[in-house]
Amino acid sequence: MRRLHTDVLILGAGGAGLFAALHAHQANPALRITVAVKGLLGKCGCTRMVQGGYNVALGAGDSVARHFMDTVEGGAWLPDQELAWTLVTGAVERVRELENELGCFFDRNADGSIHLKAFAGQTFDRTVHKGDLTGIEIMNRLAEAVWGRPIERLEEHRVQALLKNGDASAIAGALLIDMRRGEYVLVHARAVLLATGGGPTMYRFHTPSGDKSCDGLALALAAGLPLRDMEMVQFHPTGLLAGQDTRMTGTVLEEGLRGAGGYLLDGAGRRFMLDVDARAERATRDIVSRAIYAEMRAGRTTPEGGVYLSMAHLGVENVRRQFKGMVERCADCGFDLAGGRVEVVPTAHYLMGGVEFTPDCHTELPGLFVAGEDSGGVHGANRLGGNGVANSTVFGGIAGASMAHWLAGAHTVHEPDADALAAAIDQAERAFCARAGDGIDLASLRERLYAIMWDDAGIVRNAAGLARADAALQELHAERESYALPAAARDRAFNLAWHEWLNLGSLIAVSQAIVRAARARDNSRGAHYRDDYPEPGDLARSTYTRVRLQSGALHCQPVPVRFTRVSPGETLIRD
Ligand SMILES: Cc1cc2nc3c(=O)[nH]c(=O)nc-3n(C[C@H](O)[C@H](O)[C@H](O)COP(=O)(O)OP(=O)(O)OC[C@H]3O[C@@H](n4cnc5c(N)ncnc54)[C@H](O)[C@@H]3O)c2cc1C
Repeated sequence: MRRLHTDVLILGAGGAGLFAALHAHQANPALRITVAVKGLLGKCGCTRMVQGGYNVALGAGDSVARHFMDTVEGGAWLPDQELAWTLVTGAVERVRELENELGCFFDRNADGSIHLKAFAGQTFDRTVHKGDLTGIEIMNRLAEAVWGRPIERLEEHRVQALLKNGDASAIAGALLIDMRRGEYVLVHARAVLLATGGGPTMYRFHTPSGDKSCDGLALALAAGLPLRDMEMVQFHPTGLLAGQDTRMTGTVLEEGLRGAGGYLLDGAGRRFMLDVDARAERATRDIVSRAIYAEMRAGRTTPEGGVYLSMAHLGVENVRRQFKGMVERCADCGFDLAGGRVEVVPTAHYLMGGVEFTPDCHTELPGLFVAGEDSGGVHGANRLGGNGVANSTVFGGIAGASMAHWLAGAHTVHEPDADALAAAIDQAERAFCARAGDGIDLASLRERLYAIMWDDAGIVRNAAGLARADAALQELHAERESYALPAAARDRAFNLAWHEWLNLGSLIAVSQAIVRAARARDNSRGAHYRDDYPEPGDLARSTYTRVRLQSGALHCQPVPVRFTRVSPGETLIRD
């Protein structure tokens, strides 16, 4: 096994991971910094896929207080208010850094000011963007900045375990798999950042990139760390529905389409959102997704089983100009977005839940930090469109500086616990050792996972469905454990079947956490809707869920939300 030593190990290379690398280097250029990533740096993860843009209170009349209130109210009063405040204030600084230090070109108005577009669910137009493919601009500039600095890169290396020291009191490093060679790599690190970007890819329709399988969250669970808000899975209302045989199905058509005035129509062409919410299509994602799902359950669907998105009334040329990327994506799948109708379906988009952390990105395990979609508490029950990339870049930067600061203290280098290391390798090796279960194949395991989560732990939930999901996930877990790779697929080098088996392990573990938290929340808030408990409950006595693995079993407990800046019924907006 290869052994490497570094001061800072960053797991994941999206907006959070790359900003952390830059800020750690900026804070202390003498630090050895290593970024380990499952894909290719700059080319993988969801930050690159960001379409609509980045929320920041820059407009005349807007304010961080207004952005904060939208975030807290959108999150159904569950966000940790210190985290939310850090997000909205940090976004102002970070977007300037993206433009002025990293060289991103965002769209501008004729007078030279930054163009701010409308996003659904917000009281002000505050979404900074580069056309409708903002993430490519951000990731290209970030990757160039990282390439230009002495930052080590381990590409196509997947993290397989977080390693603690002998008495489990501190982080000591991580076990990686070099995917190209199929070899284990032990990285000794003084500080580790978890930034693998969550991503609810356990649902039949989903938007995140294929490299994401909730690995970071599964590792955090396995390390005994608390995860919060895991029942809060965001469905984006407008996933492309292009048939079963294309991976384009489920990919997202951006929020700005509804923000600009796009209509949603049922299979018969009726605009159903007018009956649901005064904001119609511009209501928050949870409300629109549920309304579409209701149309689907009532059978008022398009030929592929979804609803239509229609933009033509906004002017064909205007739509082509404003949404070039979306128009081209739809054309690739045979749809005319600008002049016709496109079939869409709600699609699992984002995990609001994640590892509990402080505003300076510490977790409860000394030396382990978290940022981006792996973290929980910033968005509460619902993330506003545009707050995701703000979250990963704001907290990624903070994490980098925090790690450098933390390392400046007299912290010792810890040796990873040898038994835990051996156990982690055994765990990954099971695919080569287990007795082949009769007739089990990985593709069918994944299909079953999709069905369990979509049908029983999806947009509308209830006690019976969640109990069914819990039991079915246990069975799936057992079947995966008994799976063995076929004889022809035992070469470890770039063994995609092995990695799919590992991916499924993470996805099943995190699905179990989602279901456990959803069973525990007997009210409906934001993205979590139970038709047996449709009311939101008393906002003033809000609790969030905390899931943790203890002695091999998942435990979930309610924890009171602390209203540190504003309580339900109050506002920080003074104008
Ligand atoms: C299609 C799409 C459109 C979006 N549009 C917007 C938008 O307009 N505005 C907005 O605010 N948000 C948007 N989001 C959400 C936004 O992309 C995320 O909130 C944010 O980018 C997450 O950043 P991150 O750094 O946490 O994760 P990511 O950018 O996903 O990066 C995660 C990294 O971890 C790596 N990784 C994963 N597992 C492992 C492992 N086991 N070992 C090593 N590395 C690993 C991945 O390869 C990747 O490099 C969108 C998301 C999607 C999917």
